[in-house]
Amino acid sequence: MTFRFAAAGLAFAAALGLAGSCSNAQPAGQREWIAGGAIPSRYEIAIDPNDTASTFAGEETITVQNTETLAALELNAADLTITQATIDTTPVAVKLDNGTQRLTLSPPQALQPGAHHIHIVYSGKIYDGAYGLFRTKYNVNGHEQHMLITQFEPSDARRLAPMWDQPNRRAVFSLTVTAPRGQHAISNMPAASSEQLSGGRTRTHFADTPPMASYLVFVGVGDIDRITTQVDGVEIGVITRRGAAERGRYALQSAADVVHYYNQYFGIPYPLPKLDMIAAPGAGGGFAAMENWGAILYFDQYLLLDEHSGEAERETVFGDVAHEIAHQWFGDLVTMQWWDDLWLNEGFASWMASKATEHLHPDWHPWLQQLSEGTAKVMNDDARAGTHPVVREINTIDEANQAFDSITYDKGLAVIRMIEAYVGEDAFRRGVHNYLDAHKLGNSVTADLWSAVQAASGQPVMDIARAFTTQPGYPIVRATGGACSGGTSPIALSQRRFALDDAARTGQLWPIPIVAQRLDGQSVRTVMAAQAQGALNVPGCGAYIVNAGRSAYFRVLYDGANLQALRQHFSALSADDQLGTLSDYWAFARSGDAPFGAYLDLMAAAPANADPLVAADNVSSVMALASYARGRPSEAAVRDWGRRTLQPLMARVGWTARANEAPNETSLRDAVIAALGRLGDEAVIAEARRRVDASAHDSTALPGAIRDTALGVYAYNATPAQYDKLVVQARAATDFVEQRRLWIVVAQAHDDALARRTLNLTLADAIPQQIRATVMAVVAGDHNQLVWTFVVEHRAAIEQWLEPPLRIAFPVGIASGSSDPAMVAALEAYAQNFPASVRGQVLEAASAINLRAATISQRLPAAEAWIAAQAPAR
Ligand SMILES: [Zn+2]
Repeated sequence: MTFRFAAAGLAFAAALGLAGSCSNAQPAGQREWIAGGAIPSRYEIAIDPNDTASTFAGEETITVQNTETLAALELNAADLTITQATIDTTPVAVKLDNGTQRLTLSPPQALQPGAHHIHIVYSGKIYDGAYGLFRTKYNVNGHEQHMLITQFEPSDARRLAPMWDQPNRRAVFSLTVTAPRGQHAISNMPAASSEQLSGGRTRTHFADTPPMASYLVFVGVGDIDRITTQVDGVEIGVITRRGAAERGRYALQSAADVVHYYNQYFGIPYPLPKLDMIAAPGAGGGFAAMENWGAILYFDQYLLLDEHSGEAERETVFGDVAHEIAHQWFGDLVTMQWWDDLWLNEGFASWMASKATEHLHPDWHPWLQQLSEGTAKVMNDDARAGTHPVVREINTIDEANQAFDSITYDKGLAVIRMIEAYVGEDAFRRGVHNYLDAHKLGNSVTADLWSAVQAASGQPVMDIARAFTTQPGYPIVRATGGACSGGTSPIALSQRRFALDDAARTGQLWPIPIVAQRLDGQSVRTVMAAQAQGALNVPGCGAYIVNAGRSAYFRVLYDGANLQALRQHFSALSADDQLGTLSDYWAFARSGDAPFGAYLDLMAAAPANADPLVAADNVSSVMALASYARGRPSEAAVRDWGRRTLQPLMARVGWTARANEAPNETSLRDAVIAALGRLGDEAVIAEARRRVDASAHDSTALPGAIRDTALGVYAYNATPAQYDKLVVQARAATDFVEQRRLWIVVAQAHDDALARRTLNLTLADAIPQQIRATVMAVVAGDHNQLVWTFVVEHRAAIEQWLEPPLRIAFPVGIASGSSDPAMVAALEAYAQNFPASVRGQVLEAASAINLRAATISQRLPAAEAWIAAQAPAR
C-alpha cells in the first residue's frame, strides 16, 4: 500500500499515519488469527451489487481440507447477513460474532478428516468509507455517478465473503460479478466468460487466480474506459471512469517500463496474464494505492495527469506505479506469513521503487531524493519517544492497521539499501531472486530473505540486519582523527544511540557497515563491531568522510578540525555526502550534539551551483527556522536573512524553465518561489500576482510546472477580494483532481480571517468530503492553534465525514504540528476515549510537540545569534 496524506511539495508536514479502527478487543499478546481447523484451497464467490440499496447479494462455495475431526468450523466474516449455510449439502448452525468478526459453522455431526465444500448464501454492505466493497462518487455533467471498488488490506476481505482472512492461508479465488446496464466488472484476473441477464445486466466470470492471500482480492464495477499496451507477453491496462483513460498514458508507459525492468531484475516473469491499474475518482482512507494482484487500485491523483500537472505529480505517479508493481512479486507472489513482517513488504517495495527510478529516470536522483525526504523524516522520528523497532509483534488487526508508518516504509527502505550496499548489487539481486524463487506462491518471514542474501553474498548479513530491525533507533558515530605519522592518521570511532529526547537515551549498540573516504579519494570498507569504541585506518592524512555515499543508516559527528576541513572543501564532496552531512548537523543542532552555528556554517558553504536537491534542503531549513522564529523578537531578522539566503537561488532558477533543464531543477524552482513568496519577497509576490491575473486571458502565463506554486504564493498573500476569486475558481472545478489542487491553493491563505473562512467552508458542502481533511491540514501548516481549536469545537461534525481510521490519525496529526507544550495536555484530553491500542500515536505526537518546543527554547537562540551576526551593516 502507499500512503500519502498532505499535499506534496508544500512546506508543511502533518505526519499522519493511518490509525486503526477499533474492530476488536483481544487479550494483549494473543495473535488474532485462526490456528488449525480447516484449510481453504478454493473460493468461488459470486457478487451481485445493488448500489441503490447499498447492499450486495453473495453466494460462496469454499473447498476446504481438514486433517482432524472438527466439531465446528471457524472463519472470518464481518457485517454480513447469512441466509443459508451448508457443509457438503448438510445444513449447519450459524453463529456470526461481529465483535470478534468470526463466523462459526456447526454441522449436526462432527466433520471427518478430508475435503469438504462449504456453501453460503448471504448479503453484505456497500460502504461509503474506503474499506470492504465501497463506492466512490464523481460528477458527469452535474449528475452523480458511482464506481464500486474494494479495499481489503489488512483484514476487510471478510466484508465481501466469509473467509480465512490471514495472509498465510492462500487459496484460489474464482470470482463472478454482476454489473448493471452500461457498466463493466473488473477483477484480479481477465474475464473467462460472461452472460447477459435481464435488465441489460452482465454477469462476468473471471479466470481462477493462483493461490493468493485474501487481502489482495479486487472487485470493481463501473462505467469505465480501458487503454492497454503489451510488455513481455503481458497485457498492461489503465482503467478509469469513462472519458478519462487518456490521462493514464503516462502511467501506462511507466508500468510497461517498470514491469520489463522487474522481469529482468527478479529473474522471474510477471506471473499473471494481465496487470490493470484502476483509477478511482476521489480519495479515501488516507491511502494512495493498493497492490491487489493484477488489479492495482489508485486514487485518480496518484495515477492520472492532465495539462496542469507539474513535475512533482509526474514523479509521484511514477513512484507509486513502481512501488505497487514491486509488490506484485514482493508481497503478492511471495507473501509475509503474518503482519509482523509488514515492514519487509513495504520497505522492500519502497526500496525497489527507488531502484527502478534510478534505472529508468536517473536524472531524478531517487536515492538523494529519498535521503532528503523519507530518510530525513524517519531519522527524526526514530530518535525520540514513540519510535519502535522495524520488526515488531503484531497481534491484532488494530495493531496491523497502525503498522503502516514511516518506520515500516522509510527505515525499512534504508536498512535494505544499507544491506545492498554492504554485499554489493549483484549478490543482493541473486539473494532476492533465490528468495522469491524458493517461496513463490507461498509465505515467508524476514529471516528467509536475509539468509538468502547471506548465502548469495557469503557476508554476515544476519547480524547487521537483526540489529537494525529489532532494536529501535540508530547509532551516532563520533569520528576523531589522530596525528599524521608516516603518511597516515588513524581515526578513532565511538558509537552510541542517537537521541533527540530522553526516551532515546538507551544503551543499544549496532554492528555498523562503514564506508570511509579521504577527500583525495582513498577509501576503505569495514564493519564497526557492536562495541562502544572502534578504529578506522584510511590511508592518507587529509579530510575524510565516514558513511561516504550515505548508504548506511547512522549519523556521523566529526572532530572540529575535520569538520572545518569538510566545510572548506564542501564543493568537493559528492551531493550525497553534502546532503548527508547537512542532515546530520541539522539533527545535531536540535539534539545539542553540535551548536546550530556548525550547521549554519555548513549550509553557507554549499556552492551556488549545488545539486538542486542540496539547494532544496537548504530552502527547507530556512523555512523551518522562519517557522521556529514566528512570534519571537527575531522573527523579522530571520525572515530577512531567509530572503537574502534564497534570492541567489531565485536568480539561478528564474521563473521560466530552461530548455533541457534537470527535472530536479524544475522542482527546486517550485521550492524557492514558494519559500520566497512566504518570506515576503516583494518581487516574487508581484510576479506571482501578475501571472495569476494574466492567466485569465493568457493560457501560457501559468504553465503546469509552476501553476500550483504561483497560485500558492498568490493565495498566501491574498487580499479578501483575491481570496474570493480563488474560492470561485475552486467551486467551479468539476474534476476531483483539479478540485483538490485548487482547494489546497485556497487553504494556503495566510491571513487569519481568511484561514477561518477556509475552515468554515469545510463545514459546508462546497469542499468535497474527501478533500476536507487535507484542506484543514494545509491550513494548519501556518495556523496550527486555529485549526486545533476548530477541530475540538466541531469534533462531532468532522467525525461525521471523516473515515473511521482518520478520526484518530487526523487530530493527532494536527496536534503533532504544534510547538506549544500546552498542546500535549489538550491532545491527551481529546484522546481520552481513544482505544488503548493507539496510545503509541498519541505519545509520538506528544514527543514531536515537546521536541519542537525544546528546539525553540533551547537551541534556536544560538541560530538567532548566528543570523544576527550575518546581518548586513546598516
Ligand atoms: Zn506498499
